[in-house]
Amino acid sequence: MPYDPDNIFAKMLRGEIPCNKLYEDDDTLVFLDIMPRSDGHTLIITKEQAESLFEASPGGLAKLMAVVQTLAPKIRDAVGADGVLIAQFNGAAAGQTVFHLHVHIIPRKEGEPLRPEGAQRADQTVLAATAEKIRAKLAGD
Ligand code: AMP
Repeated sequence: MPYDPDNIFAKMLRGEIPCNKLYEDDDTLVFLDIMPRSDGHTLIITKEQAESLFEASPGGLAKLMAVVQTLAPKIRDAVGADGVLIAQFNGAAAGQTVFHLHVHIIPRKEGEPLRPEGAQRADQTVLAATAEKIRAKLAGD
């Protein structure tokens, strides 16, 4: 399947649709997932047009993973979680629904189950408050 420049994350990168942005640099955009599996569920996307991990350049992938490595523990701490699930899906059969390379950062609290996948769109007021808390943590470090 060729890369679709009208996928939802491509539109976000062009500023055509809003997101709860946490961080941005030359190579990545980081924002809250709209249907969070846990509080602080974050997506990190490449600015490079890559449908999945397999189409990314090695350099682009390295930059993406460096941002994951730096931000994941800070997001964990900002929402008071105990651990972090990092997930990345390639292809519809593997569970990918948006065909622009992204990595999920999903903070986990001891004994707290994940919310069901795609079950509920979060309240924007709640997402905005979570984003503010994480941005404050990132700014303070
Ligand atoms: P995946 O199954 O890895 O392709 O995950 C795509 C993710 O994008 C899902 O967790 C969705 O909840 C999330 N998502 C879809 N649309 C938006 C949006 N407009 N803003 C933020 N997250 C979104």
